[in-house]
Amino acid sequence: MSISKMSAEPRKILVTSALPYANGSIHLGHLVEYIQTDIWVRFQKMRGNEVHYVCADDTHGTPIMLRAEKEGITPEQLIDRVWHEHKADFDGFHVEFDHYGSTNSAETREYAQAIYRKLKAAGLIEVRSVEQFYDPIKNMFLPDRFIKGECPKCGAKDQYGDNCEACGAAYAPTELKNPYSAVSGAKPELRNSDHYFFKLSADTCQKFLREWTRSGALQPEAANKMQEWLGAEGENKLTDWDISRDAPYFGFEIPDAPGKYFYVWLDAPVGYMGSFKQLCSLPSPTGGELARGPAGGGGTPVDFDEFWDKQKAERSGTELYHFIGKDILYFHALFWPAMLQHAGFRTPTKLFAHGFLTVNGEKMSKSRGTFITAESYLKQGLNPEYLRYYYAAKLNGTMEDIDLNLEDFVARVNSDLVGKLVNIASRSAGFLTKYFDGYLSAWPKNDGTLADDILGSTTRSELPVIVWDGSEEIELAYENREYSKVIREIMHRADLINQKYDSYKPWNLTKDESQRQLLHDVCSAAIDAFALLIYHIQPILPELSRQAAEFLQLPFPLQWGIKPNLTKRIQPYQHLMTRIDQKQIDAMIDSNKDSLSPSPSPASGRGEVAQSEQRHAAHQQHTANKEVAHAEKDFESFIGIEDFAKIDLRVAKIVNAEHVEGAEKLLKLTLDIGEEQTRTVFAGIKSAYDPEKLKGRMTVMVANLAPRKMKFGLSEGMVLAASGDASGLFILSPDDGAQPGMRIK
Ligand SMILES: [Zn+2]
Repeated sequence: MSISKMSAEPRKILVTSALPYANGSIHLGHLVEYIQTDIWVRFQKMRGNEVHYVCADDTHGTPIMLRAEKEGITPEQLIDRVWHEHKADFDGFHVEFDHYGSTNSAETREYAQAIYRKLKAAGLIEVRSVEQFYDPIKNMFLPDRFIKGECPKCGAKDQYGDNCEACGAAYAPTELKNPYSAVSGAKPELRNSDHYFFKLSADTCQKFLREWTRSGALQPEAANKMQEWLGAEGENKLTDWDISRDAPYFGFEIPDAPGKYFYVWLDAPVGYMGSFKQLCSLPSPTGGELARGPAGGGGTPVDFDEFWDKQKAERSGTELYHFIGKDILYFHALFWPAMLQHAGFRTPTKLFAHGFLTVNGEKMSKSRGTFITAESYLKQGLNPEYLRYYYAAKLNGTMEDIDLNLEDFVARVNSDLVGKLVNIASRSAGFLTKYFDGYLSAWPKNDGTLADDILGSTTRSELPVIVWDGSEEIELAYENREYSKVIREIMHRADLINQKYDSYKPWNLTKDESQRQLLHDVCSAAIDAFALLIYHIQPILPELSRQAAEFLQLPFPLQWGIKPNLTKRIQPYQHLMTRIDQKQIDAMIDSNKDSLSPSPSPASGRGEVAQSEQRHAAHQQHTANKEVAHAEKDFESFIGIEDFAKIDLRVAKIVNAEHVEGAEKLLKLTLDIGEEQTRTVFAGIKSAYDPEKLKGRMTVMVANLAPRKMKFGLSEGMVLAASGDASGLFILSPDDGAQPGMRIK
């Protein structure tokens, strides 16, 4: 039996989820992230850590401004209404923030301006004239997504200013034929305006980001992606980031720049700080009544600087985690840490990126009714914990997409949650109430569980022991966001308990007076085992756990590492959970078919805003997204032998190896591959190899890789090296006897 011990000092953790844009409803795709985060937060609180979970509505930008105008209300009225809608949806799914704010707050403004001033003082802000389409009727500059026209490639009509939905071509809005404003229909004019840029191309930013993205703050697949975006050593792939927008704009004005506003993506992540600052100012900080860790509940004020000031955060060891979707990794892994670093704030401890949600294996679709709003789910009377359970059963710590298969959803909830987990309580509690007035066969005098204490070494004690063993494994899986593993472990134990219970055939024991004690013991042990299952699943199913604790007369919330200690009597059993009726699912799908009226503006989500308004970042994001798609494809599908044969792999002799002046990671290799001329290759292996020791070694190179011009010279191929999550880099070697130039097939 193992009870994991908490470390003596509780951790101090600040957790955020991405801020939903105040221009649309929360849907089941959003909820993947909020449920994922909420489970992690509840688990950390259950462990006794001091945890603050904050989020906020993201409220600025052109789409909000135009939508409010269309509805005939002020932007403030619009974002206030949407805030309440969003908050109700989160409450409905038991997503328990310690504070839910808005980016349109004095606190967010203060930090956005403070960061800007520091970046400016550091010489990282530059003003440049930008030529952009202007709507002469609305008197405003138009974001790319608000310009339409004919595709320059295929001629399709009514295409957006950044890419063609008919042929997929990507282009600049100035390339559109017969462009018009999607806001007024007017023919746009090209005009110049001063824009403010954050100089991401500056050496200090590039150097910092190279280090930070490799520091372990990112998941391995995200870190690799960032290396591609940053480019090889000596390449300068990051361009400066346009952080200003011209009036009229709903947002924060840039200090000392009348008529210029911060681009929404500048102040959105600052909303994490703004919302946390509000939490720090609350009279009774941190912690809803549920699952509050003891350290967080003492009423001590939370110190903002302890979590955000670079020096103070380092000293106090506070942790900062951002849960995000992989689509906004670019903003969170490059722009955000660079802003924080150069403004004297701490950078995130880790980013936890997750994949997208598909429904029935396809992208969510309004016409198929699978663009399911949180509200429509709740309106059908579907228990929110069904979804929490299902998502948990699918989630792991990677950026893989997860699929909500609705048939599987119904089957799993009915068979696992209702048929296995809840069933243990309902069947045994029924007998306990009927034959024993709710009393357990005996009850623990000290701190052992019923079975350990009373049933001793008889076979009956196997029931709870089955559940308690492996607790540490489950704890580790929670910590690593491997919730699918948590669910597998718990459900496996539920199966064993049900099998054990069945083996005694309690329904037959009732017929024999002489078997009363055995019946009493078996049912009591099953209840004890159920309490242990609830203990383990509490972060995922907080409401079921609350109800179970009430019926079992246990304190709530349960604390990690403290076995739930049953008292002598349970309350009469009441239904904890009912089965899903397929009709509820059908009705929910019907209610979502085209129910989301087309948004008044073409850009409806923050992801789209990102792609529409930010010309420079948007272009990079676009390329980056395509790269993500490509990279995933590379690993998903098989290749034919003909694809492999395209790669000319040769045995190469390293005739010379030397350091490259000014390069941190590169060595310059001279390779003999049996040709008249040697090849020069710049390889990023300086950290692992002393050039002297490489001279004379054999290795493997890709001989037909297109030559690449680098800052230090032309690289004419690539040597192969192995690396993984563990540290170290290992170049390949052929077996003894291989000669330079031999082909590898
Ligand atoms: Zn086209």
